[in-house]
Amino acid sequence: MPILPITYVSTSTREMSSWRTSKPIIEYSKCTRCAICWKFCPDVAIDLVSDPSIKSPNEKFSSLEAPLINLNYCKGCGICATECPFGAIEMVREEI
Ligand code: SF4
Ligand code: SF4
Repeated sequence: MPILPITYVSTSTREMSSWRTSKPIIEYSKCTRCAICWKFCPDVAIDLVSDPSIKSPNEKFSSLEAPLINLNYCKGCGICATECPFGAIEMVREEI
């Protein structure tokens, strides 16, 4: 197998927040808990959590785990916002 310019270690072992110019914000009223953002995040910065304080938009989703972004490991690439099929993630410019 050729050597590729990829990491063999999850970037969840290294803080990425200093790379960011914008950050993802999840609007939980639109989130169906499909976990697509969790699958696509290249930095393993999204956890799926059982947190009853994160309200579900629909009864049938209330037993599913909700995505929670760990901004310590998020580099602000925006892939999660692009891939969310429900428009539940908005990239917001960081205050400097
Ligand atoms: S992709 Fe969107 S709808 Fe699906 S879990 Fe993530 S934020 Fe929620
Ligand atoms: S912006 Fe990029 S790094 Fe941050 S949570 Fe979304 S996909 Fe992951």
